[in-house]
Amino acid sequence: MVKAPIKVVVRTRPTANFAYKNIQINESSNYVGINIPKNAESGYVNHQQENWGFHFDKVLQNVSQEVMFDVCAKDIVLSVLEGYSGTIMCYGQTGAGKTFTTTGTTTDYKYRGLIPRCISQLFQEVGQRYEQQITVGVSYLEIYNELLTDLLAGSVAPNDQTQQLAIQEDTNGRVHVKNQIIRQCKTEEEAQAMIFEGETNRTISEHKLNKNSSRSHCVFTIHLEIRSRVESTEKVIISKLHLVDLAGSERTKKTGSEGRTLLEAQFINKSLSFLEQVVVALSEKQRDHIPYRQSKLTNLLKDSIGGNSKTIMIANIWPEADHLEETISTLKFATRMMKV
Ligand code: ADP
Ligand code: MG
Repeated sequence: MVKAPIKVVVRTRPTANFAYKNIQINESSNYVGINIPKNAESGYVNHQQENWGFHFDKVLQNVSQEVMFDVCAKDIVLSVLEGYSGTIMCYGQTGAGKTFTTTGTTTDYKYRGLIPRCISQLFQEVGQRYEQQITVGVSYLEIYNELLTDLLAGSVAPNDQTQQLAIQEDTNGRVHVKNQIIRQCKTEEEAQAMIFEGETNRTISEHKLNKNSSRSHCVFTIHLEIRSRVESTEKVIISKLHLVDLAGSERTKKTGSEGRTLLEAQFINKSLSFLEQVVVALSEKQRDHIPYRQSKLTNLLKDSIGGNSKTIMIANIWPEADHLEETISTLKFATRMMKV
């Protein structure tokens, strides 16, 4: 068996309408069980049910943002400081808590999500590593309908072709986004401000284009350059940490959706399934053919997923009766990511 390249953590969002009849969560054995009427249309006729059981690396119910950070991000930040790249992704239907998990809310300090907490920990560590000189840069990108735009470049219109960024790879296999803004941040505060700047630009372009933010992938990246002196020679290590708020995974109903909604859904379905293909390929023994090139997202993450990189997928679920189908679909996806 090859070790799964991804650690998968399930987080349930809090709700007053938890579907006790249909969902069993066992945190100590990291298990989620779901039973669902066999045919959703015909209701509970004959009481026939489909039963599903899923095991993950971790299942967390009603945990604080702090616990989320401890379980999912703390170690990754430390290994990024050692020069290994990493990726943390949130997957799930719209409303399941992806943005709350990645970014959190700015109104209350204790609701800060993974991005601000990673930044805090990083600067604490940087301040203690006297023997190294560490430069921190931050970038913030959005992928909407396979178009890549820079959320730190003011409020650009994502459908303006002139604003599209291109992904390139250097001879060392490192991924670069041509002309993307990487803000050098000397202090934690400067880095934290980038979250707000990106969010603001995202909201402005959302209003301008009447587009829904849950239909795009957002990638916040911390770039490190670590210089250290070994005797008289200087050693430079470069690493990255991506924090990805994926587009909502919900299947749009085939009937009734048309035009832009349908187009968005097709782009999302494709890019999420390419992400899956890449992860599955990474976990197979035959690793010479990893299909990164098929989408912007996998292309962008190429040097920070698999290999020596640490990758975590957080599957956010909304445990209400109305969302059972989506919950199963999310848990199936997450399971496939772990499969070897
Ligand atoms: P998504 O980004 O997946 O569409 P959100 O993160 O926007 O979902 O979450 C939907 C709503 O639920 C938001 O109002 C958010 O604040 C709330 N929420 C989600 N997860 C939690 C949580 N763990 N604790 C408290 N509120 C949450
Ligand atoms: Mg969101």
